[in-house]
Amino acid sequence: MTEYDVAVVGGGIVGCSAARELAADHEVVVLERDAIASGASGKASGVVTFSAQRSTLPEFVEYSLSFLREWEGTAHHEFHRRNTVELTPPEKEREAKGRVEAAREAGFPLRFLDAAEVDARYPGVFELSGYVGGIEYRDTGFVDPYTATTSYLEDAETRGADVRTGVEVEDVKRSGNSVDGVETSDGPITAGTVVCAAGWRTRELLAGVVDVPVRPIRYQAVDLRPDRSLGDAYPMGIDPVGEYYWRPQGDGTLHVGGGDTLVGTPGEVRHGVTEEFRLDVATDVPGILRGFERAEVESEDTCPTGDAATPDSIPIVDCPLEGLVVATGFHGYGIMASPSAGRAVRSLVTGEPAPFALEDLSLDRFEETGDRFELLSLTEKRAKYG
Ligand SMILES: Cc1cc2nc3c(=O)[nH]c(=O)nc-3n(C[C@H](O)[C@H](O)[C@H](O)COP(=O)(O)OP(=O)(O)OC[C@H]3O[C@@H](n4cnc5c(N)ncnc54)[C@H](O)[C@@H]3O)c2cc1C
Repeated sequence: MTEYDVAVVGGGIVGCSAARELAADHEVVVLERDAIASGASGKASGVVTFSAQRSTLPEFVEYSLSFLREWEGTAHHEFHRRNTVELTPPEKEREAKGRVEAAREAGFPLRFLDAAEVDARYPGVFELSGYVGGIEYRDTGFVDPYTATTSYLEDAETRGADVRTGVEVEDVKRSGNSVDGVETSDGPITAGTVVCAAGWRTRELLAGVVDVPVRPIRYQAVDLRPDRSLGDAYPMGIDPVGEYYWRPQGDGTLHVGGGDTLVGTPGEVRHGVTEEFRLDVATDVPGILRGFERAEVESEDTCPTGDAATPDSIPIVDCPLEGLVVATGFHGYGIMASPSAGRAVRSLVTGEPAPFALEDLSLDRFEETGDRFELLSLTEKRAKYG
């Protein structure tokens, strides 16, 4: 078939979620240059917390969190519920308490716990000498990102979507001021709407059509084997000092991620983490978590493919031209944001209202921004964007 209502470019979690949203009442094809989840989606840590976005995008966040919890048991998707504790050093206490208040006003069950309360709720977990306490997130958890991606796709296929892997989209076809299909390595495809969910490659794919200010961003992660068993209720965590996050894994290791940097062309980045990141984790983690004094790095991974960063770390889901929807810039949280991303794409394709503000995700908020923007730290982002 070469004619569809919707052609989705990219078989990552965002493209697959969008295809699932649209397949029941549209002829949909997913076009993936490589294999499904071969980009950032297959490399992610799968943490679902939305720590920084709750007060700025409350409905967007709530939609995704509810979906991921309620979708449990559908296809192969599993949502592993675990609380998250975001540790608070003394210099961030005021800011952390302000964020808890804003998030609580937006309806999220967050609490600020002082150090004694953290220790009482999570005995033996944290080494709290450098912290005044922490924010406790109680509606969080983790998923296996590959399985979540393929579960969306399985739903989409059950609803009638076609999936074509190993097919590269080389260009979008324009007719006057609108887009009406794509040129692929397998020939042309006509589509009423083209959804570009091609991760960091979206920018180069749409060069000359529309400027999409995303840059490839790299994350690093290692799996640490602790000195003791972590147990079934071991919390996930965030350390804003070293900008690490972590979550327990089924094999008894702790997955510790962080070390994000903007990169040139992903793929040129070697596999494995940098020596600096490995040393930082080895030095810092025993100062944050108990039982890691003699921890061994069991495996190390990074993302040679990269995720897509935006200047304000908020994704872009917009319809800049008739027949073209752009969904990219998930900046380290596309797994947790995937339900909202898919729902936003559906709204843009069908005109149905979304249960959150689409303006927050619009492309024209970056009219003044080029493609050489700097990566802001979490603190800088909060100061600049609230
Ligand atoms: C190490 C790491 C850890 C992470 N941890 C988390 C986490 O804990 N929680 C979380 O929520 N997020 C996390 N993320 C972020 C998350 O992985 C991404 O935000 C998300 O996967 C983005 O999904 P996507 O579909 O936009 O992009 P991708 O998964 O990159 O998918 C884009 C797809 O488009 C395809 N494509 C590109 N160009 C073309 C073309 N021209 N034609 C056809 N196909 C094309 C690519 O091959 C790719 O498969 C992490 C990311 C990394 C790298």
